[in-house]
Amino acid sequence: MNGHNYKVLLPSKEKLMALFSKKDKYIRINPNRSAIEAPQPKPEVPDELFSQCPGCKHTIYQKDLGSERLCPKCGYTFRISAVERLQLTIDPGSFIELFTGIETKDPLKFPNYKKKLAAVRELTGLDEAVLTGTAKIGGHQVALGIMDSNFIMASMGSVVGEKITRLFELATEEKLPVVLFTASGGARMQEGIVSLMQMAKISAAVQRHSKAGLFYLTVLTDPTTGGVTASFAMEGDIIIAESQALVGFAGRRVIESTVREQLPDNFQKAEFLQEHGFVDVIVQRSEMRSTIADLLAFHGGK
Ligand SMILES: [Zn+2]
Repeated sequence: MNGHNYKVLLPSKEKLMALFSKKDKYIRINPNRSAIEAPQPKPEVPDELFSQCPGCKHTIYQKDLGSERLCPKCGYTFRISAVERLQLTIDPGSFIELFTGIETKDPLKFPNYKKKLAAVRELTGLDEAVLTGTAKIGGHQVALGIMDSNFIMASMGSVVGEKITRLFELATEEKLPVVLFTASGGARMQEGIVSLMQMAKISAAVQRHSKAGLFYLTVLTDPTTGGVTASFAMEGDIIIAESQALVGFAGRRVIESTVREQLPDNFQKAEFLQEHGFVDVIVQRSEMRSTIADLLAFHGGK
């Protein structure tokens, strides 16, 4: 610098928060509106019974999706929760959950953030957007992390960052491989810059684990985007993706308007990434458990 005192101009906190808060007029229901005009609840079939498959557009009974939640007509891979994933992946009864009870400091004092977290915890039964612990897969002991997009779109905040970092530190200390199922909508905007700092923190822990000669396997699930893709999701020794999973950094429209080109239909799908060398192998959900067990055996799991 040339001797000047630079002053960084930042918008005031009020202006910053105004970007996020919903304008009152958009959410207030007009008190003068008559009862007839008010939207009537549609006679809907409960979501739990039917779904339209995004793959083949058929209407499918939920129960026909089975525990793996695959479309019986076209094999479309539906999103599953971390708990469902856990049940499909590990040897029964082998999971020990670790690093629970870490609370965000809510650095921006973001309106209603704590309230939202409480509601999502209630809804998902998870304490945060990643489930962490140790488990056995095909008899191999692993440090396991599973992100869940039902939890604020598995956005990466300070607690997600801390849990994944501690998982790698434990794995390094106990000489365990790490298996991490990624999913994320990106950074958790309610935590601002603290959210972005997690990328560097986790990547440093991944590197220590790698330098100890230990195996790290990532499984990219739908959707893995934003900072998670830009960091630990792509740092695995082997990168598996679930069929048709959306994997990317920025969204399609952002890229199209930046490069002023139309992108191919399968852009950011797992299969496209494999063709271009970003993903090692695409694995169907029904084969996932045995594939992971084989890779663990091959890489010296015990
Ligand atoms: Zn289908």
